[in-house]
Amino acid sequence: MSDTIFGKIIRREIPADIVYEDDLALAFKDITPVAPTHILVIPKKPISKLEDSTPEDQALLGHLLLTAKKVAAEAGLTNGYRVVINNGKHGGQTVYHLHLHVLGDRPLKWPPG
Ligand code: 5GP
Repeated sequence: MSDTIFGKIIRREIPADIVYEDDLALAFKDITPVAPTHILVIPKKPISKLEDSTPEDQALLGHLLLTAKKVAAEAGLTNGYRVVINNGKHGGQTVYHLHLHVLGDRPLKWPPG
């Protein structure tokens, strides 16, 4: 896949408000939050979208979900939260480096627009 803004964040070429990091994942605050808490969890491995993940990524995908849970707990989202993956054009994806949105600190409507 080609490089994205998230690749630059991983390499510290552009700044981000990083809230969590380990060998496999990075989590940072979304620059345009749509909820009072809006954190992005990304793999360091450059997978462009969920659709492009493979069975080889099974453990990594599980790790990303557990990382979402961890950052939500650290953000104090005790009233619940939402984890979203936008995939491709109709999914509303704008940055082609796989990411999980962790949204919380307000009630969220369903269905999404
Ligand atoms: P998508 O629409 O692809 O699911 O989500 C991409 C998200 O990345 C958007 O919520 C957008 O605000 C966020 N974003 C885009 N560029 C940057 C950036 O440079 N820094 C940070 N922290 N977030 C970004």
